[in-house]
Amino acid sequence: MYDVTIIGSGPAGLTAAIYTCRSELKTLVIEGTAAGGQLMITSEVENFPGFPEGIEGPELMSKMRSQAERFGAEFKGGDVTGVKLESRPFEVTIGSETIETKTLIIASGAQSRWLGLEAEEKLRGKGVSACATCDGFFFTDREVAVIGGGDAAIEEATFLTRFARKVTIVHRRDELRAGKAMQKKALDNEKIAFEWNSVLEDILDVNENKVTAVVLKNVKTGESKELPVDGVFIAIGHDPSTSVFKGKIELDEKGYIVTKNITRTSVPGVFAAGDVQDTRYRQAITAAGSGCMAAIDALKFLEGEEVSAGW
Ligand code: NDP
Repeated sequence: MYDVTIIGSGPAGLTAAIYTCRSELKTLVIEGTAAGGQLMITSEVENFPGFPEGIEGPELMSKMRSQAERFGAEFKGGDVTGVKLESRPFEVTIGSETIETKTLIIASGAQSRWLGLEAEEKLRGKGVSACATCDGFFFTDREVAVIGGGDAAIEEATFLTRFARKVTIVHRRDELRAGKAMQKKALDNEKIAFEWNSVLEDILDVNENKVTAVVLKNVKTGESKELPVDGVFIAIGHDPSTSVFKGKIELDEKGYIVTKNITRTSVPGVFAAGDVQDTRYRQAITAAGSGCMAAIDALKFLEGEEVSAGW
């Protein structure tokens, strides 16, 4: 029986573990198959305080994991396949294994969104990717397109210029969503070009089993054109990893966990932290901060404070 089980091992989950372990709560972290979360596929992180020169995403996660381990966190791989939250202790299932826990912190994060084109799926891993850090190297001296206009798209595009000859950002509007500093980085980079007011209509060429071009449609004029590229990176945002909690906990219309008083979910004793409940900030540092708050809230709950105060 664990005092706290934490689902997810990104900044939110690992920060929560550091805090619960230091409060001497018996803590299990279920790491998921994508252990470490989104920072594992991020290159340089320049905005996490304490690293003035920046730090590579995987290195930051490795340091957080070591810190949680140092205070006694236990780790288990694999994805959660089921939860029973109707009564306490809660049950968390991973395949054939069931874990009992007094409280639960959900920090399962979010995952890359795809456009849903047939060619996108067929050519995934054959020139279509959602991770420049993972696949950028394959496009040395090639031309690539990045779809999206948020921070992730700009970061991916900027990273890709380390390898690619030319990177074209395809955005459905004529204004980027990304923050001003990120925008400047891209606008000042002579390897980056833009296709404004354009959406990805198709990716060629499924018959050749590789990417040879993208078909772009201008949403203002309705005209379509082919842009020859060797790769396509999709960076259009993320969806929360909450399918296992559907019908068991209150979710909003986009599937994010609804929280009140910062980390409390609709089920007393279940807390949520990080991107799985955050549609606004979604930063490594805010995820870490909410992980800390969830840990403190779980501790207070176990001490009985929340029960007397009402959930
Ligand atoms: P965002 O939701 O911020 O941006 C998604 C982008 O994709 C938008 O430009 C959106 O267009 C576009 N888009 C969405 N759906 C479609 C579609 N179906 N077709 C075409 N385009 C589409 O997601 P990000 O992943 O960029 O960022 C998520 C969060 O992580 C943000 O809070 C961001 O600030 C943060 N982040 C921070 C970084 C950093 O600071 N270093 C790096 C990466 C992410 P539109 O603008 O028209 O809505």
